[in-house]
Amino acid sequence: MDKLYSPSKMAQLRDKYDFRHSKSLGQNFLSDKNIIDSIIEGSGIGEEDLVIEIGPGMGVLTAAAAECAAHVTAVEIDRHLIPILSETLQEYDNVDILHGDIMKTDLKELIGRKRSEGVTGKVRIIGNLPYYITTPIVMKLLEEEVPADSITVMMQKEVAERIQASPGSKRYGALTVAVGFYCTVSHVTDAPKEVFVPRPKVDSTVIRLDLRKEQPVNLTDRKLFFETVRNGFSQRRKTLLNSLTGIRGLKKEEIASVLQAAGIDPVRRAETLSLTEFAGVANEIAGRLPGQ
Ligand code: SAM
Repeated sequence: MDKLYSPSKMAQLRDKYDFRHSKSLGQNFLSDKNIIDSIIEGSGIGEEDLVIEIGPGMGVLTAAAAECAAHVTAVEIDRHLIPILSETLQEYDNVDILHGDIMKTDLKELIGRKRSEGVTGKVRIIGNLPYYITTPIVMKLLEEEVPADSITVMMQKEVAERIQASPGSKRYGALTVAVGFYCTVSHVTDAPKEVFVPRPKVDSTVIRLDLRKEQPVNLTDRKLFFETVRNGFSQRRKTLLNSLTGIRGLKKEEIASVLQAAGIDPVRRAETLSLTEFAGVANEIAGRLPGQ
């Protein structure tokens, strides 16, 4: 019998259900067992764990996760895939498929519900993410502080490089600092275009984000920290003195004094600042605002 991840099985399901891949929903399905195994092994799913999958497609990762987890809930936006998933996952009684948009799904509520139904293990989020919405999905999971232990996801290689970049490198930016604030990041595997049906234009990478249990830096005001990071990177070519001038109404002289107090040379650019240095700058700004 054809394996679910084989191109011939996918073609058979496409014909049976008259399914057409939607480019706008980022539907590049995985057809390589080694990569599927790497995602499952890399995510560290244990037999007590709850897995939440973003975008199950035809269910290749879902089935592999169901083999080793206590429970899998998969959220799929495309209603045309729901009957296909009912067929491909019919042998698993530990899977439910939610038809919906992950951006509108209340994951805290979902996890709370599964906990009350008796799933006690770690919460592992996995997915081969739709490229059009990779960064918003990652930021939603982090900013909403979804109580997950890890997030192991396939994404465009270039976005994974941005998340893993070091200060001073071309790809280092606001996304790197934001993800680094919430998680530690590790590389799981790379995936060439050839392992997808249909083939995307770019190569992919799987990374794992482990949610930090404690904040890596002390912040006076978290919102202001992220605002500082965003402002700093808003014009990468500008010095910090220029890019931060105007934040919360602060004048150039005030920013100069902020940078001096934080021990940062005012001609440095945002791309050279570590997470800790950004925290220092943000805390100095906070100290100069009325009411702080
Ligand atoms: N996991 C499958 C695989 O690896 O073969 C499919 C991965 S495919 C790259 C992305 C999947 O996410 C598609 O099934 C697509 O329909 C779904 N998707 C796209 N946008 C979504 C959203 N906002 N919420 C939930 N699922 C979404």
